[in-house]
Amino acid sequence: MSSKRNEKSTRIIPHKHCPVCGVAIPMDKEYCSSECAETDMKQKKQLDRMRKLVYIMIAVMIALTILMMSFGR
Ligand SMILES: [Zn+2]
Repeated sequence: MSSKRNEKSTRIIPHKHCPVCGVAIPMDKEYCSSECAETDMKQKKQLDRMRKLVYIMIAVMIALTILMMSFGR
């Protein structure tokens, strides 16, 4: 048997990749497995928390700037 046969003729079917591990998955699927779905959910939650923290920090900085400006008068 020749191992290097039809290397280029892989079927071109619409597909996407698992956002966690990058494995090709069908279009109607979000992740390759429930484990990857859970991992991504956790990561998203963590990212969400980080984003909120950044927003709060920016808001505090703006508030401080306004406070400093009003005190500078
Ligand atoms: Zn995956």
